[in-house]
Order: sequence, then C-alpha cells, then structure tokens
Amino acid sequence: MNGGTLRIVLGDQCSRDLSALAGLDPARDTVLLMEVQAECTYVPHHPQKIVLVLSAMRHFSRALVARGVRVDHVRLDDPANTQSFRGEMLRAVARHRPDRIVATHPGEWRVLQDMKGWEAAAGIPVEIREDTRFLCSLPRFRAWAAGRKSYRMEFFYREMRRETGLLMEGDEPAGGKWNFDAENRAALPKGLVPPPPHRFAPDDITREVMDLVATRFGAHFGDVAGFAWPVTAKDARAALDAFIRDRLALFGDYQDAMAAGQPTMFHALISTSLNAGLLDPMEACRAAEAAWRDGSAPLNAVEGFIRQILGWREYVRGIYWHLMPGYAAENALGATRPLPGFYWGAATSMRCVAEAVAQTRDLAYAHHIQRLMVTGNFALLAGLDPAEVNAWYLAVYADAFEWVELPNTHGMAIHADGGVMASKPYAASGAYINRMSDYCGGCAHDPKQATGPRACPFNYLYWDFIARHADRFAANPRMAMPLRTLAKMDTAKVAAMRGEAARFLATLDG
Ligand SMILES: Cc1cc2nc3c(=O)[nH]c(=O)nc-3n(C[C@H](O)[C@H](O)[C@H](O)COP(=O)(O)OP(=O)(O)OC[C@H]3O[C@@H](n4cnc5c(N)ncnc54)[C@H](O)[C@@H]3O)c2cc1C
Ligand code: SF4
Repeated sequence: MNGGTLRIVLGDQCSRDLSALAGLDPARDTVLLMEVQAECTYVPHHPQKIVLVLSAMRHFSRALVARGVRVDHVRLDDPANTQSFRGEMLRAVARHRPDRIVATHPGEWRVLQDMKGWEAAAGIPVEIREDTRFLCSLPRFRAWAAGRKSYRMEFFYREMRRETGLLMEGDEPAGGKWNFDAENRAALPKGLVPPPPHRFAPDDITREVMDLVATRFGAHFGDVAGFAWPVTAKDARAALDAFIRDRLALFGDYQDAMAAGQPTMFHALISTSLNAGLLDPMEACRAAEAAWRDGSAPLNAVEGFIRQILGWREYVRGIYWHLMPGYAAENALGATRPLPGFYWGAATSMRCVAEAVAQTRDLAYAHHIQRLMVTGNFALLAGLDPAEVNAWYLAVYADAFEWVELPNTHGMAIHADGGVMASKPYAASGAYINRMSDYCGGCAHDPKQATGPRACPFNYLYWDFIARHADRFAANPRMAMPLRTLAKMDTAKVAAMRGEAARFLATLDG
C-alpha cells in the first residue's frame, strides 16, 4: 500500500464499531487480522474456543471485504506465518509500508506489554486506542476505584445504573430495589425442563476451521465436534433473541440452580459473543429491559441479568486493569497443591465435579454456579495452586479471556486476592451443592455425612479449610458464623474430619 494506516483487529475484536477501525480510509488503509499459533497454545485452549475465535475472524474479514475494505488476513496454516503477533505485525509492515499502526486496547496485560514494544520494533507510530465496546472506560473505573480500600461490585453497579439509566425510574431503581438477588436462589423443581439453547450449525468456513483445529490442537482437552457457538454478529443477535424469548423469564429464579444433564439451565449463553465482540453489551441489556417493560419477563430476572453484564462484567474488567500485573501473582491463602487429574477428565467419585468437567469438555461451557461453587469451591477448599487454577479456567472455557477469567477465578472463586473482590471466600460444604442441585442423589458420597467411607469430600474439606485459616478469618466479621460453629463442635469430630481431609488430599498429591 505504501503509506496509509495498518489497522489491527485481534481475535476478540470482531466488532464493526471497533475503535481501531474508526476513521478508516478504504483507499489507503489495510486491516490486519493475524491467526497465530502462540495465542492458541500459551495455555492449551479448548478446541472450541480456538474455533470460535478463528471462525469469527474469518467471518469478520469476509464482512469487511464485502464493505470494500482492504483486508490482510494471515491464516494459521500459511507456511510463512511466524506464529506470533509481533512477527506478523512486522511482516505486514514490510508488505504494506504503512505510515502508522492503529490498534484497540487488547484484553490481556501480556498482549498490551508486547504492543507497547511495537513502535520501537516497527519504527513507525503505534496508537493504542481505548476499547469503547465496554460500558465503563478504564479511566472511569480508575476514578471510581481511587482511594477505596475495597472494591465492592454493588456500589460500582449502582453508579453504572444511574449513569446508563438502565432499569431506572427517575433517580430511583425500578421496583424500589437495586438488587433482587434474594429472589434468585431457587433450586430447579422436579419436572421443569429448561428449553434447549439455540445451536448454530457450523457453515463451510467454520467446518474448515474445525478441521484445522482438530489437526493442530487435537491433544488439547475438549471436544471440537459439538461446536455450535455463534461466530457472526447476526447469529449472536439470534442467540440473544432466543434467550430473551425462551429463558429470560426464569433466568432469575434458577440462576443459581444446577441439574444433572442440564448444562445450560436458563442461562443466556452469550458470553462467547460478548467477549469476541459479536454482541454489544448495551444491546443485550436494552433487550432485557424491553422484555421487562413489555411484561414478558419479571424484574428479578431482568435485574439479575443486567447486573451480570452492567455490573459484574464491567467491574471485573476494571479490577483486572486496575490491579494487574501484581494481581495475578497474589496467593493470599498460600495455596500450593497441584491441580488434580480429574480437572482434565480423569475419573472422580464426586458426581458434581464429574458433571461440571464432562460438560466443560463437551461444550467448553459451564454456567456460573458450576464454575464458582463446584470446580472453584473445590479448588478453594483443597488449596489448589492459583496459577494452575487460573490457567485451567483460561484454557477450558470458550468465553475465557484473561480480563474476565482472572478476577472471577483468582478473586471470586479461590480468594487468592485476600478479599479485594469478595468480602468473604465463597466456601461451601456439600449441603449447598445438595440444596442447589440434584447431583448428590446419584453420587457415591452422601452430602449429609462428614466422616466415614461415604462422607462427602466437600464436607470435611470445608471444615478443614475453616480450621486451617481460622486465625486469618477471625478478623473478618463475615466469617464469624462458621468460626463459631467450628468452635462449638466436638473436638473429636473436628479431628476426625481433618483426618479425613488429610487422607483425601494425600490421594490427590499421590
Ligand atoms: C471461576 C470463574 C471463572 C469464570 N470465567 C469466565 C470467563 O473466562 N469468561 C466469562 O465471560 N465469564 C467467566 N465467568 C463468569 C460467568 O460464569 C460466565 O460469564 C457465564 O457463565 C457465561 O455464561 P452465560 O453467557 O450463559 O451467562 P449468564 O449467566 O446468562 O449471564 C449473562 C452474561 O453476564 C455476564 N456475566 C455473568 N457473570 C459474570 C461474571 N461473574 N463476570 C463477568 N461477566 C459475567 C456474561 O457476559 C454472561 O454472558 C467466570 C466465573 C467464575 C466463577
Ligand atoms: S455428595 Fe458431595 S461430592 Fe457427591 S455430588 Fe453431592 S456435593 Fe458433590
């Protein structure tokens, strides 16, 4: 091209309104998309996640070309591919000789550090623009976080409600309350079968990518054959519409429920689309708000859904960029145990864990409560090494990008940040899983037993966890209740449970 701007679109930036594309001059500019091996393997990503990203990129390239944009799309199987962002950026600069590079802020600290070195490497200016696809800019989040000792999502969320006007009636929250979470904790009643989610049959482009991924990354944990995620903005909108129509009304009630053979429950299945840039978060919130206003979904469902996107999703991104890189290195509970093989599909007698891992392998998906209260809770109680736990969550879910995966795992699930995000650890015994699911019925363990051959591991691990960290938790008023219960327990019973825990944990280490 000689001159003009080289505009970079990363794999999770397949958005028409991407800031890197603003001001694009079709006569002079080139858009560069880079499929590179290094990004597929720095953790062993689930094959479905790789298909999602590569197929979304290929569809996005095609849409840009159809709009008359000049696109340089480097394919993974191009023999000249250097297989790294930097290598491909430099090759593209040599090919096109642009005056400058424009990119959008990436979703990972690691990639941002690399990009910051591009200007020196390429010898031309590199502009990294704000990612305007989020509802809260990074400077806005920093202003909110400045001077706070702790960062509670609920206060952030209220400010976002006021700023966006979502679910507001004048200055007041719709329905007189900011948060309807207390109404969103029912277990799934027998006989209620959640409607199956909309599935998207792979087209020719996706099938070609599936073959490529199966050949190159067949050894990664996960099944590629069941791929059915949206890979275009049109399909992402169809997924959102299907959710609003079929599942939103009961999303709230059963948000925390789990059931064997029901991997998706009433959840939206839109995180892959939001995170890859195929769906606009405000569009999703507005669609849910409209369903409440027209009477097709109740407020507890709609508020619960909007809180996840306007609250949690924006908040975790803010936390990530505010606290990285130190955040990832924290290990407040001194957890060091390696990840057991059953996270990668080895047999386990714990049915809840086996179900969550099996569906993760098949679908690259588990819903929030499975991630938090089954695999996450186990990792917390068993003291699994945060670096290994984080790498697992980043690898196995199709929606996993570090800005959203890390705070959820490190902060919410395993409390490795010592309480920056959550005021107390999300630790629970088998009683919680039994109340919120039907897993325990078909399990080799008994959720009502804490010692003995059929005891539920979550029970003795829970009390061992509380006892192990009792000194630390003593300063936390929100941990007063479990500590009081522990103190009142028969010492022989506590010793027996801790003995079971030690024996069980030794089997993991062996
Ligand atoms: C340990 C752990 C790891 C997680 N890793 C990821 C991840 O890598 N990528 C990811 O997108 N989400 C992650 N989450 C958050 C959440 O579990 C997923 O967003 C959700 O399960 C996606 O499925 P869904 O679209 O059906 O969501 P729904 O339950 O239907 O929620 C709707 C939308 O709200 C947003 N949302 C909900 N909860 C959260 C949350 N806690 N943080 C951020 N956004 C949220 C998502 O965009 C989601 O699509 C993680 C949660 C935990 C506990
Ligand atoms: S009994 Fe324990 S291990 Fe088995 S499914 Fe229930 S909570 Fe999980």
